[in-house]
Amino acid sequence: SKEKGGTVPQFFNESMRNRFQERLLIENALRQAVDTGDFELYYQPKIKSGKVSSMEALIRWQDPVLGFVSPGTFIPIAEEIGLILQIDEWSLIEACKQNKKWQDEGLIHVPISANLSAKHFQHDFLIALIEKTLNESGMDPKYLKLEITESVFIKNPKHVAEVIHKLKSLGVLISIDDFGKGYSSLSQLLQLPIDEIKIDRQFIKDIDQHYKKELLVKSIFDIAHGLRLNVVAEGVETENERELLVQLGCDELQGYLFSPPVSRRDMEKFLCRKVEV
Ligand code: C2E
Ligand code: CA
Ligand code: CA
Ligand code: CA
Repeated sequence: SKEKGGTVPQFFNESMRNRFQERLLIENALRQAVDTGDFELYYQPKIKSGKVSSMEALIRWQDPVLGFVSPGTFIPIAEEIGLILQIDEWSLIEACKQNKKWQDEGLIHVPISANLSAKHFQHDFLIALIEKTLNESGMDPKYLKLEITESVFIKNPKHVAEVIHKLKSLGVLISIDDFGKGYSSLSQLLQLPIDEIKIDRQFIKDIDQHYKKELLVKSIFDIAHGLRLNVVAEGVETENERELLVQLGCDELQGYLFSPPVSRRDMEKFLCRKVEV
């Protein structure tokens, strides 16, 4: 280090030290969790006309010491320290195996969505990983939907477009997550063979109380439907939001109004109730 005489530089204060230490703890625990496969998948239903029309797989991590760490915290860290490829591989295979099992048991036949980090688009493993996932699970490719965010298009959009075409040729579906949130080049998106867009929660929240949100979402729906894309609203929390979204032509709804993400067992209970939501 540069400073001599053992004085602690002023910018490195106590709260920064704590954050730094916490960060190191998470990194080390995460490396261990990846080695031991110490994760769980939760499932959140998407609803169409009162029925479960598909599901999203969302990873959960409970460390013995740190306790529950949310994916919002550990996924970005995993991306930085190069663990995300292994984590997503685990999620993907688990999600497809579970979905295939539910189909074989006659519980439900719907697509499952898995979240893919943008990092996969900087490597060549992705196509092989998806092939491996489909082989290992034995699931029909048309039941796998890959959720990617617009941020993948920032770096090398031409390469990304090629990868997406290759993925499509495997028979899987592509969904653009958090649509409208960040960097969006509508024209670029619309040139790609995508199947679905998921409107970001910020546009859905209190949409019934903000006419400008309603206008914006309505026009996105109209464009998307003109292109025959499936449109999903995420973060639906109230009956009023649901009613308006359905009226605007939203294809599928997802959010706490119907169910939070739940464990495999709770999802099975949810599916067995067979009541309309
Ligand atoms: P996301 O893909 O946008 O997932 C939606 C998040 O919103 C989830 O948080 C979900 O629990 C939450 N949510 C669902 N319905 C509602 C609602 O009605 N209201 C509110 N306020 N929130 C709702 P979660 O599970 O904590 O996941 C956070 C993010 O972590 C995900 O955002 C996704 O980007 C990432 N993630 C989760 N699992 C994986 C994974 O296996 N791989 C990768 N690469 N990322 C993952
Ligand atoms: Ca998602
Ligand atoms: Ca999302
Ligand atoms: Ca999100």
